[in-house]
Amino acid sequence: MRKVVFSGMRPTGKLHLGHLVGAIQNWIDLQTQYDCIFSIVDWHALMGEYEQSKQISENIFDMALDWLACGIDPEKSIVFVQSMVPEHLELCMILSCITPLGWLERNPTYKEQLREITTRDLQTYAFLGYPVLQAADILLYKANAIPIGEDQLPHIELTREIARKFNFLYKKDLFPDCEAILTKTPRLLGLDGRKMSKSYQNTINLSDSEADMQKKVQSMFTDPRRLKVADPGHPDECNVYSYYQAFAADQSPDVYNWCTMAQKGCTECKKILAGQLLKTLLPIQEKRKKMLGDKNRIHDILLEGAQKARRIAQKTMNEVKSILF
Ligand code: SF4
Repeated sequence: MRKVVFSGMRPTGKLHLGHLVGAIQNWIDLQTQYDCIFSIVDWHALMGEYEQSKQISENIFDMALDWLACGIDPEKSIVFVQSMVPEHLELCMILSCITPLGWLERNPTYKEQLREITTRDLQTYAFLGYPVLQAADILLYKANAIPIGEDQLPHIELTREIARKFNFLYKKDLFPDCEAILTKTPRLLGLDGRKMSKSYQNTINLSDSEADMQKKVQSMFTDPRRLKVADPGHPDECNVYSYYQAFAADQSPDVYNWCTMAQKGCTECKKILAGQLLKTLLPIQEKRKKMLGDKNRIHDILLEGAQKARRIAQKTMNEVKSILF
């Protein structure tokens, strides 16, 4: 029996290069070794963006399109929308009964988001409890492995704690201990060197036109110590160089040399980078365009995915209820 991988993404906007490097490329590789379940987690999106709820349904279709265009294969993996499987909320409710408030209040990501996101009101009951819904997402499929970045490790630990508490309380070994599969690629920063996020408007989106992408690359922050072309640069302190490492690793030794020896200026270096990024973006955009010609196919894939996911979810819920009642 192959191990089960579960991962989800919130449909809160266009997919960008950070999503590609930080998650999707990893998912594509995992499809060959695991039974993968990938969910567009719209309930999680609603928890943070309830004021723009209409936008979420548009984003769901776009996200599915981007995933499939990047190489997520619905023949190998289950691809579905979280709200099409109501058992997620059912299990979330049950798990919330056994989750101590202190575990949620101590969650470092929760505290960080309350501190940093000032444009939305996140002081809600649902937002405090989002790790419980995450635990339900994972445990519903008895997933063994969760691909994540290091910053999400506390969430996985919380899922493990909740699973152990359920197993201990009801003296059954129902939920397995899940493990994190850490993303190997370091996190890609936004154009301005901050965390890449649509809220900061510092992303290169997978659907950006060539002209938009080139303009964005030219606006990227570089080594602050390199003021003139004749100044030797410090690639390890330059965000542009980290993009070369992620998208054109073969070329990064050349970049290192021309930067440290002041042989090329930053404008030219960025122009070459834009050419490299285009090699990644064009095939995705062409596939996306082709798939847009048959929108029904995307809806069918999501429907079939939800049916497959629901069969597993219902089986787990039957087990949970027979233990509880
Ligand atoms: Fe960055 Fe390239 Fe400029 Fe060096 S030459 S500082 S790597 S943009």
